[in-house]
Amino acid sequence: MPGTQNDTFMEASASNGVVLFGKYEMLELAGVGASAKVYHARRVDTGESVAVKAVSKRQLSTTDGYAEQIEREISIMRRMHHPHTVRLFEVLATKAKIYYVMEYAAGGELLRRVSSAGRMTENLARRYFQQLISAVAYCHSHGVFHRDLKLENLLVDENMDLKVTDFGLSAGRSQFGPDGLLHTICGTPAYVAPEILAKKGYRGGSVDIWSCGVILFTIVAGYLPFNDYNITILYRKIYRGQFRYPKWVSCDFKRFVSRLLDRDPETRITIDEILKDPWFCRGGYKYPTRVVPELDEDHVMLKDLNAFDLISFSSGFDISGLLTHSEYLNCVERFVSKEEPESILERVKIMGAKMERVRVEKDENACAGVRLEGLDGNYVIAVRIYRLMNELVVIEVKRKEKKVGGGNFWRTRLKPLLLELALR
Ligand code: ADP
Repeated sequence: MPGTQNDTFMEASASNGVVLFGKYEMLELAGVGASAKVYHARRVDTGESVAVKAVSKRQLSTTDGYAEQIEREISIMRRMHHPHTVRLFEVLATKAKIYYVMEYAAGGELLRRVSSAGRMTENLARRYFQQLISAVAYCHSHGVFHRDLKLENLLVDENMDLKVTDFGLSAGRSQFGPDGLLHTICGTPAYVAPEILAKKGYRGGSVDIWSCGVILFTIVAGYLPFNDYNITILYRKIYRGQFRYPKWVSCDFKRFVSRLLDRDPETRITIDEILKDPWFCRGGYKYPTRVVPELDEDHVMLKDLNAFDLISFSSGFDISGLLTHSEYLNCVERFVSKEEPESILERVKIMGAKMERVRVEKDENACAGVRLEGLDGNYVIAVRIYRLMNELVVIEVKRKEKKVGGGNFWRTRLKPLLLELALR
């Protein structure tokens, strides 16, 4: 079975020469993170370098909230197209592992550049900081907050340009509480904003700006603004905003950093204000904050199925099964169709919209999909479309139904429609 073979290969640290899924020739280990190993690989067809991040599925079932985190990471990274964020090209899966195929950042971690030289000049730091703000502004304008910005998540490419990665802790719109604020405690201690420590709810935007302040300070000073072996003392320093500038920094730098590391999120500098700040703008700001226009709602991009997907379709790629709740029954059904994907999704949307107690929305976790939800909480149905070959598509329906009384809409309405659209 190809999946098992691939997994065995990936367990070995010497990955040289192995071809993953017949598509990616594994070259060497690029880095090891908290949850994953990342390999430098080469696309067999084009020779292009890529990074392959391998995450063990065992963690999905043992770590609370991890599956949701992975799903969120996939959905967020797929939407990010910016010169200074790492692109996600493809997600592949075996029974044991999930592989993210991403843009390869050949220069490695920015951190390495800081530690070899100790620190950076303000001019060089400004260049990277402008690129960072360009990426962060782009993400924020798409409703995405990183929430774990730190030097370890800043990589550089072969031109020494910045690439922001690791959206594992990012928050999409769905995670806001009823007060419109985020409540999950996350991030890395030295980079955490004081309002997160206050546990009152916070805005993802200002938290990211605080972390950018910590990053900028660190690359110029050569040490973290807030640091202590004792986590309680560290948090107290952050909470009080206690830090010391080194003597070699400019007055403009101090003034700018004090605006980024303002303890009060209400008065902390905003992205718009950063873009006008004299220290930030010196020498000109040429990086984009908006890049690719949002896809229009009806435009559908399909994920191509490969032979491997077909083999491991349900058990491999489907991580939603790990989120099941015993009260619910989970089913997956698939139909092959020759209809246009846009028109299939449109018909499904219209069918749902006609019903009184059904919420219909775009499936943010899929390239092409619709999510239908019974307002009484009886069922959730995800309809996703994948390209099989030429004009053939697979309509995949995943249903989560309350064991009693959840399946009516499916049996009497949606399934007959899909049977009508399917090849017989
Ligand atoms: P984790 O999420 O488990 O912490 P990371 O995504 O931070 O893992 O990756 C771990 C390490 O792998 C990084 O610190 C970096 O050195 C390397 N790495 C990650 N992504 C890439 C990439 N796209 N290109 C090159 N190296 C990468």
